[in-house]
Amino acid sequence: MGRIRVLSPDMVSFISAGEVIDGPWSIVKELVENSLDAAATHIDIEIRGGGIDSVVVSDNGHGIAHDDVPMCVRGHSTSKVRNREDLDTIATYGFRGEALASIAAVADLHILTRTADEEMGSKLVSRVGEAPKITNASRPNGTTVEVTHLFARIPARKKQLGTPKTEGQRVVDVVMRHAMPRFDVGFRLVKDGEVIIDCPPEQSPRDRAVAAWGAEVAPHLAEVYFTKDSITIKGFLARPLVTRGTRAREYLSVHKRPVEDMRLSTAVESAYSTLLMRGRYPVCVLDISLDPLRVDVNVHPTKREVRIKDAEEVASAVRESVRRVLLEPQPSTFGQGPEDILAGPSLEPFLMEEESEKPSSLSSSANRQPTTDAFRLVEGVSLEGVTSETSDDIIRVPTLGGTFRIVGQVHNLYVVLELQEGLLIIDQHAAHERVMYERLRRQMNSGAMPVQELLEPIVLRLQHTDAENVLGLSDVLERMGYSVSGFGGNEILVTTLPDVLGYQVSEKEVTSIVDEILAIGVDHASEHFMDEIVKITACHSAIRAGQPMSKDEIRNLLVAMASTPNRYSCPHGRPTILRISVQELEKKFGRIGH
Ligand code: ADP
Ligand code: MG
Repeated sequence: MGRIRVLSPDMVSFISAGEVIDGPWSIVKELVENSLDAAATHIDIEIRGGGIDSVVVSDNGHGIAHDDVPMCVRGHSTSKVRNREDLDTIATYGFRGEALASIAAVADLHILTRTADEEMGSKLVSRVGEAPKITNASRPNGTTVEVTHLFARIPARKKQLGTPKTEGQRVVDVVMRHAMPRFDVGFRLVKDGEVIIDCPPEQSPRDRAVAAWGAEVAPHLAEVYFTKDSITIKGFLARPLVTRGTRAREYLSVHKRPVEDMRLSTAVESAYSTLLMRGRYPVCVLDISLDPLRVDVNVHPTKREVRIKDAEEVASAVRESVRRVLLEPQPSTFGQGPEDILAGPSLEPFLMEEESEKPSSLSSSANRQPTTDAFRLVEGVSLEGVTSETSDDIIRVPTLGGTFRIVGQVHNLYVVLELQEGLLIIDQHAAHERVMYERLRRQMNSGAMPVQELLEPIVLRLQHTDAENVLGLSDVLERMGYSVSGFGGNEILVTTLPDVLGYQVSEKEVTSIVDEILAIGVDHASEHFMDEIVKITACHSAIRAGQPMSKDEIRNLLVAMASTPNRYSCPHGRPTILRISVQELEKKFGRIGH
């Protein structure tokens, strides 16, 4: 990297201006980005009191040459850009030459640094309002920056800071946002003496994701790799059993620069679509690369936002990259030894704890015993694989030696199954709704929607505009198996229905389906509209809540679920199956330690 120079006033005018130091998290962000720009392979971050008392960032990067040290804390001084053209293709995190100067304006700063070709390093001590002092000092090559007395002279700003706890959480978050895409670099974060993050350099992206999210998530991880028209999207996502209540675990970056961009987040979330419950968010790390000329990082002083040319194209590539992975059939454990089943993921929708500020890299939970996924016993199993034992209640999958017993139905609403490791509770309507939804989508995509001709067509009397609207949708409805035609006035004639609705559909039911279709508030030409019709049809064809089920019907439901993708959630994203383990029962009843 070249010498540090002060940018010309002309250059300064091109650079987005504004405050960069909000609190400890932004200090950490700027210092970590400087370390990454210095090609460090290991970055150590230590904070005290949430970073309000002190922040120390050390790296093994290329250091600052002694002659440059006085320059680094001056405003608009940088070694990273020189002229206007450099701004178009910024390959470094920094380019404004403002971070160290802004920190020095609000806090005391100690810098200890040495380049590889210097024998002696340098030390800079800067106190707010005083000229910096520079001396010689020894250090292995690299840089350590220590920031203390943040906002000590600006009580109004200091008052605006959060508690050490919240400021500390922000620091953890900003470090994670950098560490996730930069799995090539080692990161260690120590908070008040406690190691929070410890990731070695040269980690595989999968290992880094597991370190961040915990071993429990490992079986649910899927790799994303997608390229289209010079846009590449790489990373990992957790399949939808693993979700969060906030966007805190959506790590999105552009050229490895963490970004917060609603359009990109929405693209990821819309790809999960029905697989997420309302208010739940995906867990993923995705890096986007594209022609650097299309990316403008010079829009926001803290560089949190980037402007992307033709952002809609990038968002749709992101959506597609995620969608494809989610639609891939999941590797089945069928046919493998029982050990594989034991290593399978837990069944229960895995709601990541909201409070935990600690990525699980070091926490002992990473070594937790794997849980059994008994329901996978029926995963991908063809009908022949499922056999009955002597009693009708027992379903067995011989190859896997797995057995469970149908206990029955409770409240005409839930199906209860016993397995060796505990209980499964299935929401009969939600589970069957998913089965029907996936079946309908398959049939629709194959272009051959099985329909039933009604022996006696159903005549619906609608409000005038409704009748017109229904007729306007007749092509779309036809694709789904509903044939409608005008019958004069406000009357509509329905002559066929999708086969899945069964043979005893009442006029009342068809009216309510039509009402629901008319109430869909999205563009009729969109794929989304079609999907909503599929959901409505699935809902009306599914076993109702409140409907009694025989053991045979339960068995059929289980067999159908066994070959249904996305069976752990209904089309509205609610869970379909809950598992209660024997351990949980024992704990609740106080049979084992609490
Ligand atoms: P910018 O990163 O925008 O250039 P900064 O104020 O963050 O501005 O840093 C000023 C200059 O100090 C950088 O351009 C770089 O040359 C040098 N510098 C800062 N931190 C480091 C570091 N950790 N290692 C090597 N050089 C650094
Ligand atoms: Mg910088």
